[in-house]
Amino acid sequence: MVLTFLGESNSELADKDLRVIADLLPSPIFYCDSFLVYRYANPAGARLYGRSVEDIVGKGIDEVLETERVRLYKTRHDRVLAGETLRFEESRKFGDETTRRVQAEYIPHKIDNGSVAGFFVLLTDVTERYMAEMEARDAAEQLRMISDAVPAQISFVDRDRRVVMVNSTAAEWFARDPKDIVGRKISDLLGTEFAHKTDKTVNRVLNGERVEYQSQYTFPDGVSRALETTYIPNVRADGSIDGYFVLSYDVTDFKRVEDDLRLLATTDSLTGVFNRRRILEICDEEIIRARRYDRHLSVVMCDIDHFKAVNDIHGHDAGDGLIKRFAELAGKTVREGIDAVGRLGGDEFVLVLPETSISNARVVAERLRRAWERETLETEQGVVRLTCCLGVAELSVRHQTERDILKQADRALYLAKESGRNRVCVDVTAAESSVRVATRG
Ligand code: GH3
Ligand code: MG
Repeated sequence: MVLTFLGESNSELADKDLRVIADLLPSPIFYCDSFLVYRYANPAGARLYGRSVEDIVGKGIDEVLETERVRLYKTRHDRVLAGETLRFEESRKFGDETTRRVQAEYIPHKIDNGSVAGFFVLLTDVTERYMAEMEARDAAEQLRMISDAVPAQISFVDRDRRVVMVNSTAAEWFARDPKDIVGRKISDLLGTEFAHKTDKTVNRVLNGERVEYQSQYTFPDGVSRALETTYIPNVRADGSIDGYFVLSYDVTDFKRVEDDLRLLATTDSLTGVFNRRRILEICDEEIIRARRYDRHLSVVMCDIDHFKAVNDIHGHDAGDGLIKRFAELAGKTVREGIDAVGRLGGDEFVLVLPETSISNARVVAERLRRAWERETLETEQGVVRLTCCLGVAELSVRHQTERDILKQADRALYLAKESGRNRVCVDVTAAESSVRVATRG
């Protein structure tokens, strides 16, 4: 009788047969008439309320459902009885006290004159699917929360170079809302030049390689960042790669500290030229280079004349000022970016001159000697003028150890001091001839 909802085409099936089918279905099915009296409940439906079928059929919903639920369901009952079909999901408490997720369908039973005689309620248990969805959502949400909390930019880019996902740091750097980033191409977000430059790297990543690199990049937010970036291919279960993760850490601050430390470790704090350790290192590097490529290399050892007297007469600060002046002058005398100036200690400096023959090195040394001679320092005790001695040496095959060239320049310096100061000397005693050359201003 009530199951004629299956329609005319099924009229050859007796209501009885349909009832047997409905009774066998594992999903709860009910039929209520327009007075909200249960006319049918299959065993699965009865079980839902922890009752027998007989204990439901013929009873009003207010006798079967708790008052609270009757009130709660009033709207849906009104709507279905007004002819509306309702489909929705909800969590329901079952007779065994478990709460399960069901997909509910309320279907009006319309009779010939168009009026609604009652309605069917079909419930499908979707708990498992729902739980799986919730778990997946929880996992995705957790992942999002973690990725948003990380002070690094994290994004996922597909094979077409389209951004699929970004975390909040990435959105910040791109200076856009995540919604305006997702779906856009890298070339659109960071420019075609960037996309072109990273194309080869991306291809390697899409072939399964993990790539790490350091770079300096100015993002759309206008901030230039030193970045440590890792591209990680996303390999799926079937082995295919559908895109890659980009992880970039902003290492600007670390790099700044690192640069500061390096500067501190390699420069002389008073003068700003290379310190002893670094200039000796540079000297060694240049010796190796000159030997490998058979190039000239000269060094000039410098020492201020009678410097101790400045300290004694004008004070240590005045002495410091002069040491700084000498370093500045030496820096101005040599080729920027090619030659190196270092302070060995006290009033002693060394110039390392790559690609420079002894005669050219003497010209440089002579220029510095003259410039220093002209230099003046005003002090309370009056104007101070000083001179200096310079010893020049060129790298040659007879230099056995790396530092021999420095020793030779040092000997030349000693000669300059010995022979009256304020002069440039070359010591050639170790060479074939024993000629000692000295120039004097
Ligand atoms: P010479 O002509 O033989 O070179 O005599 P000099 O007086 O310059 O003696 P020398 O080069 O042997 O000594 C350098 C002096 O420089 C020794 C020390 O008192 C002074 N000195 C060393 N380091 C510093 C410094 O950092 N600041 C100042 N103001 N003086 C220094
Ligand atoms: Mg001196």
